[in-house]
Amino acid sequence: MDFIRKWVQALFFILTNGYWNFPVTKGIYKGPLKIVCSPGLNCYSCPAATTYCPLGALQQLLAGIRMSIENGQFFFGLYVVGTMGVIGGFVGRMVCGWACPFGLFQELLHKIPSPKFGIWPPLRYIKYGLLLFMVILLPLFALDEFGFGSTSFCKYLCPAGTLEAGLPMLFLQPELRSNIGPLFFNKLFFLFLFIIWAVLASRPFCRTACPLGAFYALFSRIKLVKLRLDPAKCTDCKACHNVCPMGVRFNESPDDMECISCLACSKACKFNAITLEIGGLSITTQPRPSDFQLKKITQGTDITN
Ligand code: SF4
Ligand code: SF4
Repeated sequence: MDFIRKWVQALFFILTNGYWNFPVTKGIYKGPLKIVCSPGLNCYSCPAATTYCPLGALQQLLAGIRMSIENGQFFFGLYVVGTMGVIGGFVGRMVCGWACPFGLFQELLHKIPSPKFGIWPPLRYIKYGLLLFMVILLPLFALDEFGFGSTSFCKYLCPAGTLEAGLPMLFLQPELRSNIGPLFFNKLFFLFLFIIWAVLASRPFCRTACPLGAFYALFSRIKLVKLRLDPAKCTDCKACHNVCPMGVRFNESPDDMECISCLACSKACKFNAITLEIGGLSITTQPRPSDFQLKKITQGTDITN
């Protein structure tokens, strides 16, 4: 299953970053696909991006909401929020595990050999604060002289924006380098912080600082595609704890807001206590073991050979 997930991640990466003419044009793609919302974090200003980033669009929407309402042009806003809501309602944070280029980037970094560390669980709540303050309140209320709010997360923090847009555009358009100031170095600091952290710990940006992950996490209990625990089959062996890239203890918290539906726990559970459900219909990812096999598993005998 992880093999399929990797292919899906690669496919989304290519689909949302398919404009390979940028070394010639030295600018960003502005064609018809740019009205499509990328499910994951993928900067609008990345020279290869074919779609727009939902988080950037949400901030733009809230920052200019006064003007949109005055001009009666709030349809784009409804489209952005509606798209994010539909994606969240269907799959929630499955986007993080299957369709986000920055999630894939962190997974690849984590494969670099090094000592590996966990992440202190309370740090997960930072991303909800960032969603509230930097994505909602500051764009709504920190107004400039034209009445336009501050798109704070993109401006001050987003490491995906620095990696996918800031650095490539400086390379493509050398004249931009004269504009480099403290703001850019501030963002560069966050990018390197998360790169180093991702080598040492699994998905640190997703787990601590991604407001898009925080938004999708709000749908954890009501989303259509989700994992289900069968408590009758669970032996509390804790195998699912050891493989989770998000630090979830699935059998203790089956609706955990951190779960990105990567299915690693389902594969690790030899008792088939974890199944994938779509709209309440169970899709068992592995055949149920026979009573003989269950007995052998419980005794610690490897029955896969
Ligand atoms: S791996 Fe399966 S049986 Fe073991 S604790 Fe997790 S859900 Fe329960
Ligand atoms: S709980 Fe399971 S599906 Fe969810 S992130 Fe952890 S390993 Fe993946």
